[in-house]
Amino acid sequence: MQSPTATERLLATTEHLSSATLHPSDAWIHPRLTHSVDPIKGRQLLVSQPVRKGELLLVDRPYALIPAVDEPETSEDIRCSNAACHRAVTRDAERVSCPGRCVADVVWCGLGCRDADAPRHQFECTWLKKYARAIRAKWGEYDFGVLWLIVRILASRQVELGAGSAGRASRSFKVGWDAIQCLCGSQDTWAHSQVRHWTVLAKKYLASNPSFPHGMGTNDVVTLICQEEANSFGLYPRETGVLPLPDPPIDRGEQFGAAVYPTAAIANHSCSPNIIHKSDNQGRMVFVASRDIAAGEECCISYFDLTQFVDLQTRRDHLQRSFRFVCKCDRCTSEEPPEEEVQWDEFPAMEL
Ligand SMILES: [Zn+2]
Ligand SMILES: [Zn+2]
Ligand SMILES: [Zn+2]
Repeated sequence: MQSPTATERLLATTEHLSSATLHPSDAWIHPRLTHSVDPIKGRQLLVSQPVRKGELLLVDRPYALIPAVDEPETSEDIRCSNAACHRAVTRDAERVSCPGRCVADVVWCGLGCRDADAPRHQFECTWLKKYARAIRAKWGEYDFGVLWLIVRILASRQVELGAGSAGRASRSFKVGWDAIQCLCGSQDTWAHSQVRHWTVLAKKYLASNPSFPHGMGTNDVVTLICQEEANSFGLYPRETGVLPLPDPPIDRGEQFGAAVYPTAAIANHSCSPNIIHKSDNQGRMVFVASRDIAAGEECCISYFDLTQFVDLQTRRDHLQRSFRFVCKCDRCTSEEPPEEEVQWDEFPAMEL
């Protein structure tokens, strides 16, 4: 069977990575992975030379990551807040909370990580203390997550700009804040009502001020929200994109976080993807080829759990609702019912 093999390979690869090959803070891009711009689809990932099934294609560090768990005090899925670590902080491990007591969702796996993360967390701590409770009560958990992820993006940006370097670009892939600014999802791709809602939130909670100094205007912040919403990944315990579906189907599990990745975000969607993706235990997004990929072929992931949306109509409805496009992937096109042939002689003769 094809799918368990791919799954096993992905798991083996991520474990292998976590153990030795890469430092936890490293990102890695396959030498044959590149990107281009398609006139219709926009940016896309592709391979310049053939890649074999099972090959690791990408390990991408998040620019920003937030936990999304129901019970942060007891959850075993909550991640260390230090961006260079992000490992799961299990209940038994020694948890370190914020001395400023901002929110229970902020934890570190040790004092070392807390201290290393201080410059970044400082930026969000006052904001969390001031607004987290109010936003959750008034707007709910989803909007809180959107705003917190933006705050963490702005925090990473502050640290990056403060350090005076944007990092090293890798083979024409932009990195850091440069990459985030290139993400797709401009304001005009969203419904007016949605953009209006985000504008209200941005004005109320994300305006630059002395205790939250990012220097961006409201319109730029709203654009950033639009980009984040079009490009963020949910983080799940199991992989996304396994086809054919295992029997019985195994879903990807309960979401425990959300993150924005500079390079992984370039991948477009297919309902029959050639890449399986999953985050590893450092919050890095890992792409593995789930079949042989030919030179010049686009590399696609699935934006949703393929076990949850199976037939054509359900998949298209979901993509339209959540991602605002009509899927024209090979699988969708091949499953379209044949168009009924027009019977020309059934039309009444036209009088000229
Ligand atoms: Zn840590
Ligand atoms: Zn804090
Ligand atoms: Zn499709």
